[in-house]
Amino acid sequence: MSNTSKIILISGASSGIGEATARHLAKQGHTVVVGARRVERIEIVAREIMAEGGSALAIRLDVTDRWNFATFAQEAHRQFGRIDVLVNNAGVMPLSAFADLQIDEWNLMIDVNLRGVLNGVAAVLPIMTAQQRGHVVNIGSVAGYNVNPTAGVYCATKFAVRALSEGLRMESKDLRVTLVSPGLTRTELSDAIRSPETRGMLQGLTDSIGIPAGAIAEAIGFAISQPADVDVNELIVRPTVQG
Ligand code: NDP
Repeated sequence: MSNTSKIILISGASSGIGEATARHLAKQGHTVVVGARRVERIEIVAREIMAEGGSALAIRLDVTDRWNFATFAQEAHRQFGRIDVLVNNAGVMPLSAFADLQIDEWNLMIDVNLRGVLNGVAAVLPIMTAQQRGHVVNIGSVAGYNVNPTAGVYCATKFAVRALSEGLRMESKDLRVTLVSPGLTRTELSDAIRSPETRGMLQGLTDSIGIPAGAIAEAIGFAISQPADVDVNELIVRPTVQG
């Protein structure tokens, strides 16, 4: 393992951007601790990384449960002695019109996309403060800059992630804080959309212009690989043709 090898925790690493990020960072020589609820999938990710000579550990994680997130971070810290980076990636996007009153889905987006990120910050902050260094990478979205119909609540969570990332950055002299905001990326994210029309429209668009999850993983890797005194605060990565 090289001197620049880091201990990196990734939430939502069972598919999409989180999985691609775990594979990419492991290839760069980092140790990745992959978390998600679908344990069988994170175990496969970890096994495949290790089969290729990388270092990975899979631990079940539900980001909506603050104690589970704290245990996840503590277990990683116990095993590796430090935490260098948390990638707060887990997210859900069950889009719907306000008039449909899908209140459970609104709450789910707040619980995963917003509270989940805060639970992650709370889980690593005491450890990173004690280390006097650390890096929190939050996955926002272009939906954190613009609002679209059916996406009001999702956008609200991503605007909030952008705001809290900036607040965390301003308060800390020891932490690096990066917001990576993807545009349309080919993942499983839109599978949860209930309305066949909205889901079909978005999946059609993603199939035609979406970029691979690896493109976002590269951006995360770029921010992480900068020297300790260089803090990359915001990266927006979207398909060239996306408006
Ligand atoms: P995926 O649906 O492929 O991945 C989402 C991940 O989040 C899964 O690994 C899922 O794991 C995890 N997750 C969901 N709920 C929880 C939970 N309660 N606890 C722990 N993990 C959870 O979508 P993406 O890879 O696209 O999404 C990753 C991030 O990228 C999200 O924050 C999303 O908002 C953001 N994003 C994606 C864009 C895109 O076009 N794809 C565009 C902009 C932003 P499991 O179900 O196993 O728990």
